[in-house]
Amino acid sequence: MSGDWENAYQQSLHCIRCGYCQPTCPTYVISGMEDSVARGRNFIARLCYEKETDISRQYKDMIFECLLCGACKDNCAPAVKTPQIMMATRAEYIKKMGQPQLQRFVFRELLPNPERFSRLMKIASFGKRSGLSGLAQALRVFGWFGKGIATMEGLVKHLPKKFFRERLTELKPRSTGSDIKIGYFVGCGINYAFPDVGLATVELLNKNSYPVEVLNNLCCGLPAAGYGDLEAARNLAKQNIEIMEKSGADIIISECGSCSSYLSEYDHLFNDENLWADRATRFSKKVYDINQFLDQFQTQREFKTSQQIRVSYHDPCHLSHYLKITNEPRQLIKQIDGVVFEELPEANWCCGGAGTYNIAHHDISIKILRRKIENLDRTEASLLLSSCPGCLVQLSYGVRKFNKPVVVKHIVQLLNETISE
Ligand code: SF4
Ligand code: SF4
Repeated sequence: MSGDWENAYQQSLHCIRCGYCQPTCPTYVISGMEDSVARGRNFIARLCYEKETDISRQYKDMIFECLLCGACKDNCAPAVKTPQIMMATRAEYIKKMGQPQLQRFVFRELLPNPERFSRLMKIASFGKRSGLSGLAQALRVFGWFGKGIATMEGLVKHLPKKFFRERLTELKPRSTGSDIKIGYFVGCGINYAFPDVGLATVELLNKNSYPVEVLNNLCCGLPAAGYGDLEAARNLAKQNIEIMEKSGADIIISECGSCSSYLSEYDHLFNDENLWADRATRFSKKVYDINQFLDQFQTQREFKTSQQIRVSYHDPCHLSHYLKITNEPRQLIKQIDGVVFEELPEANWCCGGAGTYNIAHHDISIKILRRKIENLDRTEASLLLSSCPGCLVQLSYGVRKFNKPVVVKHIVQLLNETISE
């Protein structure tokens, strides 16, 4: 029996079945079903552990429909780590019931091999820009992917021609006075979908006098862990730790809320491997989310928009529920002269993106997104900021789908556009 599974079981025993997680859980609020809330999910995990043979397909939806958003922890007196319990339960599920071949290939062959992954993303990007992917879809060329491929196609409007790592030469050299050696961790979403956000991050840090080394990191591992492939996640984590150690970076910065959060938790991944646990702890201590870093260490504090703009902010789950970073982004936005900040009702309510949840569980995801967009309407904002590429994809899709005249951006983009040099 794995240490992850044993730890998850012990954790699930802390649930006192009070039910206070119900109003905080997006999937429960939609379905009203006990198997869609932390209490029910923890009960299922416990049942699966105690009666090993019971972990079967009948529990699949209960186990995999959790968003892993972490909102339940906020209202939970014993602070039960339901997302971690769910990830370990998923790991146990795929161990017993098998993992889809394609998923295994992505997590174990593509993500650890950036050249191969990039080649595939180039094909996807070309297909998207040329319209060939739409044609292939119509002809059912990718029928073996299931209906998820059609959903994915609709979610992403553009894929860039050039990825972030191919655009580094566009960065203007700037004199940077600080001695702090920053290693910039490039998330997959930033590299392949939002290269402008990556460029804005590096520029913004440079304008604050910090030199930046772009790390040759791999995926942080969260997508694999989210589907229960903890072994693939650990392999990626080990390689990232080695890359960081070789770089000699004093701190590691990411502007992807999911990466920041998962990198900060690497130390929990190696409970069964002491040597790696120590290295992971040293690694995790160096991780800063960009909001946290700028809030504490920005040297440039003059920001001004060309005209007054009404702005709101959506909290990514991994920043708000996991890392508890909520004040920092708001402070950074409010310091900009010309911004009228309007608080988004239920700002820390998941947007329904949750990695690839919007593909795997599209119908539930849309119901969650609708609530977010209704709240956005109340702000009358013309610019919605967030701090995670997964949220940017989902929120951009939401404003398109529900025809809202709102621009969606990453917070670093607005800061970089308005900073005075
Ligand atoms: S709030 Fe926490 S302790 Fe109470 S039922 Fe939910 S998970 Fe269990
Ligand atoms: S992690 Fe989110 S979706 Fe899962 S049980 Fe907790 S609140 Fe509900």
